[in-house]
Amino acid sequence: MVYMDNAATTKPYKSVMETYMNTGDDYYFNTASIHTKGREAARLLEAARAQVKGLIGLEEYDCIFTSGATESNNLAIQGIIEKKKRSGTTILVSEIEHPSIMNTLEAMKEEVRVKYIRTTAGGMIDLAHLEELIDEDVIFVTIMAVNNIIGSVQPIQEVARLLEGHPKAHFHVDATQAVGKIQMDYRGVDSISFSSHKFHGIKGIGALLSRDGGKLSPIIYGGGHEYGKRSGTVNLPGAVAMARAMRISGEAMKENTARLSRYNEQVQDKVRNLKSIHIHPGGVPHILNISFIGAQGEVVVNALGKRGIMVSTTSACASKLRKLNETLSAIGSSKEKIEGSIRISFGNMTAQAEVDQLCDALGAVYEEIKEVLE
Ligand code: PMP
Repeated sequence: MVYMDNAATTKPYKSVMETYMNTGDDYYFNTASIHTKGREAARLLEAARAQVKGLIGLEEYDCIFTSGATESNNLAIQGIIEKKKRSGTTILVSEIEHPSIMNTLEAMKEEVRVKYIRTTAGGMIDLAHLEELIDEDVIFVTIMAVNNIIGSVQPIQEVARLLEGHPKAHFHVDATQAVGKIQMDYRGVDSISFSSHKFHGIKGIGALLSRDGGKLSPIIYGGGHEYGKRSGTVNLPGAVAMARAMRISGEAMKENTARLSRYNEQVQDKVRNLKSIHIHPGGVPHILNISFIGAQGEVVVNALGKRGIMVSTTSACASKLRKLNETLSAIGSSKEKIEGSIRISFGNMTAQAEVDQLCDALGAVYEEIKEVLE
């Protein structure tokens, strides 16, 4: 099996699995227990927290461990808006956010006024439009670091500078596709969210780093864990394993970026000159979005699957929602390009031989379906 769907999730590093197992075995105690072992577990949790903050470069921020980016995004949006809604009601959001942002805002539409920041054809937010939209009623701005469908990298520092003059507006960044993959400067951002399983950690753990976690209403109430912002017995093995996965990914980042860029180029070279193939604008090396114009992305995904290669379709936003992908629509892609699109995503474990196999398979699938292509 050749796994090329790393933007969906990644295989955990072996050593991370070991860390998870060993921590679960040796420190199964509740970090909230006041006995000696509970305190030891709590110290380990604080060490993992400090490591995560340090590796992101936001040592002075609060770090709240969650179950993953979906929960972190919900906590940031609901938790901050609840606190700020008396001072304004406007929310600015890019058009290409993940459903965990879009659907949370949709659920709050009675309470807030959501305005969408336009996207350029290259997949970048339109900064001039953001400048037009920002006013004194804005309490929350949310823009992802790296888009999960095409891989475009958003100008986070430029937005942070633009928002300097608007201190009331909380700036949230969904950094799920960036952390552990590309170096980014998050200074000036008020909160960032991510999931461990996207950078070869395990599933079920993530974090929200917030400039001032104290100004956040909880969305999960209970025994007061995580500074009262996220109750429930803390997933200590997951947090320790996440810190480790983050460290390993960070140490190997430069080498992986160069290697994955070569893979990305190789696949592009393979299909670039074929008729009825469109390569969507990208950004990060690990995500590549290609359209087979005239075909259904699902057909291509299945044809590659028969050859043992796992990729994603982007024709539907999340395959369950059955609507044209929002990111591709926002960048002005045609219906045919959207319907025929697939997402190939590399991970730190992707090997050259697998990319060669993918290229051969893409060639074979193209021959198989070229009659239907426009
Ligand atoms: N944001 C982005 C940009 C993502 O790619 C994902 C995962 N598809 C999420 C949020 C949600 O992550 P999780 O499913 O781990 O909660």
